[in-house]
Amino acid sequence: MAEMGKKGALDWYFKSNLLVRILIGLIGGAIVGLIVGPGIDVIRPLGTLFIRLLQMIVVPLIIATLVVGAASISPARLGKIGIKIVAFYLLTSAFAVAIGLLVGNIIRPGAGMDLAGVTGQAREVTPPAVIDTLLNIVPTNPFAAIAAGQVLPIIFFAIVFGIALSYLQISNDERIKAAGNTLFQIFDAAAEIMYIVVRWILQYAPIGVFALIAVVFGTQGAQAFGPLGMVTLAVYIGIALHLFGVYGGLLAINKLSFTRFIAGAREAMITAFVSRSSGGTLPVTMRNAEEKLGINRTVYGFTLPLGATINMDGTAIYQGVCALFIAFAIGMPLALPQQLTIIITAVLASIGTAGVPGAGAIMLLLVLDSVGMPVQEGTPVALAYAMILGIDALLDMGRTGLNVTGDLVGTSLVAKSEKEIDLSKWKKG
Ligand code: ASP
Repeated sequence: MAEMGKKGALDWYFKSNLLVRILIGLIGGAIVGLIVGPGIDVIRPLGTLFIRLLQMIVVPLIIATLVVGAASISPARLGKIGIKIVAFYLLTSAFAVAIGLLVGNIIRPGAGMDLAGVTGQAREVTPPAVIDTLLNIVPTNPFAAIAAGQVLPIIFFAIVFGIALSYLQISNDERIKAAGNTLFQIFDAAAEIMYIVVRWILQYAPIGVFALIAVVFGTQGAQAFGPLGMVTLAVYIGIALHLFGVYGGLLAINKLSFTRFIAGAREAMITAFVSRSSGGTLPVTMRNAEEKLGINRTVYGFTLPLGATINMDGTAIYQGVCALFIAFAIGMPLALPQQLTIIITAVLASIGTAGVPGAGAIMLLLVLDSVGMPVQEGTPVALAYAMILGIDALLDMGRTGLNVTGDLVGTSLVAKSEKEIDLSKWKKG
């Protein structure tokens, strides 16, 4: 760069440690938001800009990384990685709901609130059509899927494309082989370009983080100290238990250091926390997997976009806690069979939750429906649900942070078992 070597006016900004700057943005934003209150909303565009920048590169990044990844390993290996990661995602999500229910039963948020009076009529539950969900993974028009940013169909098409590309590269026909290699290099270059762009975007992160967090705390912060404090507390205790107990335990069993993991994953964790979007955080998650955790692109290129779409442990915890809160608040505590039902529906609902802000609150409707607490106008259930919606941003921050952390834990474990991880990055240094 032309001006390299010269002392710039913004050196204090660009030359200081990025993570320290992001943390200052995080804490400063929370404090300023609480002090200023709702008026802080004027700086919302600064946060929106950060999210838009990240979203801008999500689709090209997934496609480039997945095509390169799928072209670089055998379909059999890819299948093995797929089975392992899906098993991890499902099991940890089931654990997460159980933790949410456990904490909820101990803290009993909403107990004694007595919103009762009217109780909603149990509505017929329409089970999500599993076969349709599966069929929808195959795009009828890949370009439409790309334009609409539908991650699962994009993953499917990119993998098929990448596998076919690998066959070009080993063709006996020199012309086809050369064309295959050229195309591979183009996707490889596109992926690298996206990583450079993520690095640039992260330079803006401290400002974006400040604005995002200040707006949430300015508009919703005070409410968290009110009667809903117990719900917030229960959700965050559940998240902490899952983070340290389940993830910490699984990493330890697999001889991976938890502290090194956090050091490598924290940019993604903070970005998820403030952006409240697993999908939007994906560029940062992928960058951390590659640069900080030393994971091979063939693994994370597949497991991370998949995780951002289907793996939502934080959302599962939230759904467990909120279902209990609503039941306590309307004076109809849930019996054991109902709680078991919640484990199943919350896992399914968390899989179906899109990686965008607030999606988990919509899927909570499904969970409530499954235990005979449909949200219908004028019912106490609707009242209790509306109360939770009032603090949704605060809860969404924690659950999204955990969602993304879970994707990285699963990816690290699968990468380790497949020997696709550079363990030197996990040593102190
Ligand atoms: N915001 C969450 C995510 O992107 C989903 C949710 O609302 O629970 O992971």
